[in-house]
Amino acid sequence: MQDKSMLMIPGPTPVPESVLLSLSKHPIGHRSGDFSEIMAAVTAGLKWLHQTTNDVLILTASGTGAMEAGIINFLSAGDRVLVGCNGKFGDRWGEVCDAYGLKTERITAPWGQPLNPDDFKAALEADTAKTIKAVIVTHSETSTGVINDLEAINRHVKAHGQALIIVDAVTSLGAVSVPIDEWGLDVVGSGSQKGYMIPPGLAFVSVSAKAWEAYKTATLPKFYLDLGKYRKDAAKNTTPFTPPVNLFFALKTALEMMQAEGLETIFARHRRLMQATRAAMKALNLPLYAPDECASPAITAVAPQGVEAEKIRNLMKKRFDIALAGGQDHLKGQIFRIGHLGFVSDRDILAAVSALEAVLG
Ligand code: PLP
Repeated sequence: MQDKSMLMIPGPTPVPESVLLSLSKHPIGHRSGDFSEIMAAVTAGLKWLHQTTNDVLILTASGTGAMEAGIINFLSAGDRVLVGCNGKFGDRWGEVCDAYGLKTERITAPWGQPLNPDDFKAALEADTAKTIKAVIVTHSETSTGVINDLEAINRHVKAHGQALIIVDAVTSLGAVSVPIDEWGLDVVGSGSQKGYMIPPGLAFVSVSAKAWEAYKTATLPKFYLDLGKYRKDAAKNTTPFTPPVNLFFALKTALEMMQAEGLETIFARHRRLMQATRAAMKALNLPLYAPDECASPAITAVAPQGVEAEKIRNLMKKRFDIALAGGQDHLKGQIFRIGHLGFVSDRDILAAVSALEAVLG
């Protein structure tokens, strides 16, 4: 039955009824007072969610657009950057940096393991000439279900003093605390189809005063993703280019729901969903891909032994209309991933786990 389809993938995530209803209105002009009122409200809500007084800019893009904007606005060709790579999205950071001719140095860890903050410490301490311009990290590595120790890595960046810290928080924002002001995170990107509980189409980038200083001298080419344009127009509560106005209606409703739930309650719910999912996998004898100590509260990756991951996924879809995600790149066919971020409740986990038990026979 189509209308009972259940999304348990790490994005797009399920969307609440009230958000769906707010999408189904006539569009309004993006240069109107009505739009500006909505933009002011969502900008305030985004700053609350991002725990920051920094600018939080709204782009019409997917998460990768936020990543690309996070590079091209603050860096120049030939700049030396450290990129954490322990999964597909860390690798993607490396690809973006390579594409723009940065001097990319990868700090790696095996897929399924967290980045080691000491590796960043060693590279940053060795940089006495302060040539490293940025440290670039994926917080929640969606491809493996690992959460990297951003706080510890960032501490070493702060000790270095010069480098910017640029973060992919695509599957952590809205699921896990990302205290931007407390930690002093310079650039943080995320996307609407994850913890925000709305459909794909918007990306968000928060930018610190230090990053805006770097913007002044950054020389990489940019036009649509020039964040200076977004900042200038955000001051007038509008956007430089036509935004998907209906997604703004949805964002406003979703942020109001989040504010009613409260930050700490949202984070506690995601931790509980993670713990319940992991406990259930252990009870079903399904090996977990990421160790407990670095498990992402947004997503659980499972590496079944003796049963094909794709077979489990197909049966879940066919018998129960529950969508799970597969493995990416070399993990294709090796793992399946259960997304539990955004509009997900205890009941959803119970349903998914019961269905899994039935499928395993
Ligand atoms: N970074 C992470 C951690 C992600 O999970 C994703 C998407 O799943 C992206 C970046 C890329 O986002 P998009 O597919 O919206 O461009």
